[in-house]
Amino acid sequence: MSEIAQNLSAVQQAVRDTALACGRDPEKIKLIAVSKTKPVEMIREAIDCGTVDFGENYPQELAEKARELSGVPIRWHMIGHLQRNKVRMILPYLSMIHAVDSLRLAEQIEAEAARIGKKIPILLEVNIAREESKFGLKAEEVLPLVRTAAAMPHIRIKGLMTIAPFVEDAEQNRIHFRNLHQLSVDIARQNIDNVDMSELSMGMTGDYKVAIEEGATMIRVGTAIFGAREYHQ
Ligand SMILES: *Cc1c(COP(=O)(O)O)cnc(C)c1O
Repeated sequence: MSEIAQNLSAVQQAVRDTALACGRDPEKIKLIAVSKTKPVEMIREAIDCGTVDFGENYPQELAEKARELSGVPIRWHMIGHLQRNKVRMILPYLSMIHAVDSLRLAEQIEAEAARIGKKIPILLEVNIAREESKFGLKAEEVLPLVRTAAAMPHIRIKGLMTIAPFVEDAEQNRIHFRNLHQLSVDIARQNIDNVDMSELSMGMTGDYKVAIEEGATMIRVGTAIFGAREYHQ
């Protein structure tokens, strides 16, 4: 078995074990393989192991990989901060945008999606731990944006996403995952047309088990599958 195959099966096993131990259905947790900075050959290896959901952070890189792998059944997730002027470059390839954090970005996505006749599922990024350095909406900004974006016909709001703080002990992030979950429950209770809060994208290599215990439906895992990244953009 290749290293990627081994890594994938270890992560999948951990996802199953964690889900079952807290009474959740493992099938309700989607593993997104974060392939940023990693070569297409590694993506192909993961595909050979049955992976279909891949996450990328950088628009140029995502577009290049998507073109190289055109015809291969992949669902591309844009998980990084997205500038408005990059929406057009990647929208045709995308299955979901995870980090929508402003009305202006939502409007740009709506306009581009309308232009190419696509409906795109999105998540709103919440800076739930209120870190100075992070992108993302403050908790109290989420509902107003949900209400406005709900009226945009080419956007489908599917839930919330967060990038938790970098911590040594994943337990420290439990409160943030719990708070994001609660926020999504509060918003779902508003019963806004065209809005569903079924997805919670949270948890990475260091903390995905805690995220699953707190209700994650999508975990974004890079290092545990593809190994450490050699450069950071
Ligand atoms: C890089 C990245 C990940 C994956 O991080 P790992 O720690 O390598 O699992 C997940 N989400 C986002 C938004 C990222 O940028």
